[in-house]
Amino acid sequence: MAAPRPPGSGRQEVPEVPLSESFLNQLAGLVDQVVTDPAALDATSHDTWPMTTKWAAVGRHPYRAEAVVKVSSPDQIAALLKAASRAGVPVTPRALASSVTGQPIPTRGGVVLDVNGLPRTRTVNQTDLTVTVSANYLGSALEDELGQLGFTLGHSPQSLLRSTVGGWLSTLATGQFSSLYGGIEDLVVGYTVILATGQSIKLQAKPRAAMGPDLRQLFIGSEGTLGVITEVTLKIFPIAPAESLQTYAIPSVHDGLTFMRAQGAAGLRPFLLRLYDADEAKHAMVDPTFDSCCLFLGSRGLPGLVEAEMAALDELVRQIGGRPLGPAATAAWMERRFDFSSVERQVAKPGGIAETIEVAHYWSGIEGLYEDLKRALAPLADEVLAHFSHVYNQGTSMYMILFAQTADDETAIDRLERIWSTTMDLCLEHGAELSHHHGGGLVRSPYSKRSLGSAHLVLEKVKRALDPAGVLNPGKLGL
Ligand SMILES: Cc1cc2nc3c(=O)[nH]c(=O)nc-3n(C[C@H](O)[C@H](O)[C@H](O)COP(=O)(O)OP(=O)(O)OC[C@H]3O[C@@H](n4cnc5c(N)ncnc54)[C@H](O)[C@@H]3O)c2cc1C
Repeated sequence: MAAPRPPGSGRQEVPEVPLSESFLNQLAGLVDQVVTDPAALDATSHDTWPMTTKWAAVGRHPYRAEAVVKVSSPDQIAALLKAASRAGVPVTPRALASSVTGQPIPTRGGVVLDVNGLPRTRTVNQTDLTVTVSANYLGSALEDELGQLGFTLGHSPQSLLRSTVGGWLSTLATGQFSSLYGGIEDLVVGYTVILATGQSIKLQAKPRAAMGPDLRQLFIGSEGTLGVITEVTLKIFPIAPAESLQTYAIPSVHDGLTFMRAQGAAGLRPFLLRLYDADEAKHAMVDPTFDSCCLFLGSRGLPGLVEAEMAALDELVRQIGGRPLGPAATAAWMERRFDFSSVERQVAKPGGIAETIEVAHYWSGIEGLYEDLKRALAPLADEVLAHFSHVYNQGTSMYMILFAQTADDETAIDRLERIWSTTMDLCLEHGAELSHHHGGGLVRSPYSKRSLGSAHLVLEKVKRALDPAGVLNPGKLGL
């Protein structure tokens, strides 16, 4: 068994004590495949977090599993978890590793559980407006198949083409159209989860239930620390018959936020609502000469409602000095909304940095947080871009993209660490939420206790009750 190692800079060494031969032999009898070749084990140290890409670039593979286990049924998962709990071996679930915070990285070695081999199942209920799928279902495949039947999930993360339904639940994901449909927590009807003890638990509400607390929320966002999700039932929505888009030039972030707050308070529910600061607006408009903030707006629904909603939104935007520019820029963004290539290209360059950090705050705090973060991060990056894109009546998320070019990848790693600690410390000072949807993972785990405050005690007690041997994804969420 590997000695416990704290999450953090990724400078830790590969575990020195390997899994025992007898445990590996036992596993081989329980699951489809136990992979121990060095390249596969090295890969477990990396997900889509730019920091872990940089570690790979400098040949560093910290937090490395000692075996990758491939399964093809929930029963195999149950058997693996029971055996691991008995032996005290860490098990870290991993789907498509689109996490950008190091969530599926095994901080204590042990076993990485690859859930991608579960049989892909799908049942659509057009009367109840639900779809039930295996947890390893690829998001974009599901959305395409539903589209052919005239439905949509309403959940459209930028990673739709590279993430799974089980991953969405485990990370508390949210999509680009959340202002209308909500986050994954609003879209889940029920799911099945296997506990560390091997027990299979079904949580559901048909369509709402008041028999005690809503336990469905317990595993959502738990990052594989409390159980392994095997099947999920989600809401589906008939594809709206009408859609309308518009783009506006906006005088300032202050004015844009004033509009966002006003439209929510007025009861409007546009499916698309994205405010870009002047720096990111140049990218969003694909026009380096564009010199103000901009707003992308969209409404979906019955034709008359869409027309009325767009008219009401237009009136509110004009009140804050917004100027309509026509739908083209917003329509172009809709076409390229899953494109992440500018970030990937920059991360791939030696010394290149492209990092995305999303936080959230009340309306009363978001503007001050935006200004302080822009100021504090400016010396650490060549560009600090920001947009506000998930809107609630109480506040909004803020998503920053930082681009920088440093001398080499070791310098980039140090710079990324400073970017993260500066951002997290400032958010804590402001009383803001440290993550809106990318989750804790490795990078935010050290801040979990300060962020959750007294609520962290509940998380610790739940963890001890459900995973007494502490084997599931240790070192995450401050556990
Ligand atoms: C280009 C890009 C854009 C992104 N855009 C968004 C976005 O718009 N919104 C958003 O919310 N996120 C976004 N993300 C982050 C990421 O895609 C999500 O967190 C996604 O939900 C992770 O899914 P996954 O299947 O890849 O899971 P993984 O990354 O493999 O795992 C993530 C976590 O979930 C756990 N896990 C995975 N499957 C299971 C399971 N079946 N049971 C228990 N635990 C499990 C893992 O242990 C890990 O802790 C983006 C990432 C990228 C690279």
